[in-house]
Amino acid sequence: MPELPEVETVRRGAEPQLRGRRLLELELHRPDLRWPMPEAALRDLIGRRCTGIDRRSKYLLLRFDGAESPSALVHLGMTGRLLVEVCDPGRPRPEWRRHEHWRMDFGDRLVRFVDPRRFGALDVVAARDQTTHKLLAPLGQEPLEPGFDGAFLHRVSRRRRSATKTLLMDGHVLVGVGNIYASEACWRAAVRPRRAAGSLTRAECDRLAAAVREVLSAAIDAGGTSFRDYVGVHEDAGFFARELAVYERAGAPCPRCRGAIRRTTDGGRSTYWCAGCQT
Ligand SMILES: [Zn+2]
Repeated sequence: MPELPEVETVRRGAEPQLRGRRLLELELHRPDLRWPMPEAALRDLIGRRCTGIDRRSKYLLLRFDGAESPSALVHLGMTGRLLVEVCDPGRPRPEWRRHEHWRMDFGDRLVRFVDPRRFGALDVVAARDQTTHKLLAPLGQEPLEPGFDGAFLHRVSRRRRSATKTLLMDGHVLVGVGNIYASEACWRAAVRPRRAAGSLTRAECDRLAAAVREVLSAAIDAGGTSFRDYVGVHEDAGFFARELAVYERAGAPCPRCRGAIRRTTDGGRSTYWCAGCQT
């Protein structure tokens, strides 16, 4: 499943391709993905110019100019891929691919959304509805934006008995920190993933916040982690998987203390950690 670094990688790849280009046509190949796609509101985007692409959590927001300043909200779901292809506007468009569900035609750029499992989403959000939209309203703090630091983590973790890793992955508190990055951040901060969040010291919160930022930034720099289904904007895979210290490395030596990496399971999710140096 694409996580925040993969989505940010897609955003960075797609934005320079689409910014300043006018949407000429939009085609839906089916009425719904995870939810129905609002055809009338989507067709209202035709003729508008894309002014940029932002990201909120794992949602991409394709900004358009004109009345209401609407955005197309795109979620990749479990297996979604947003492909941006260079094409010749004078030639016929390519055949629809298997599992391709919608297209946006920007003349010399064609955006194609391919999603075999159809957990993705496409919606339209007016600028004034951005904090109240049902998918955007419940989202917590962005980890790479101002406001995320040790003081924030210390404040939200007080009196919490839940595991530190669970808190990091709670999207109402902090968005975009999935299972891989939560395990890696706990290792970098030398904190056991199962530690009760309320027991974290301020110094540990500082280390953890820095670790979350580092691990996400490193993954973005590497173009995403790229396990199974995800590929980026031009279908090039990311390489962060090689840099993981603990994730999917059970039994291997810890890069810091040479202890054996352990794997435990909580609620169906694997957690990887080192008993030698994480306390
Ligand atoms: Zn260790």
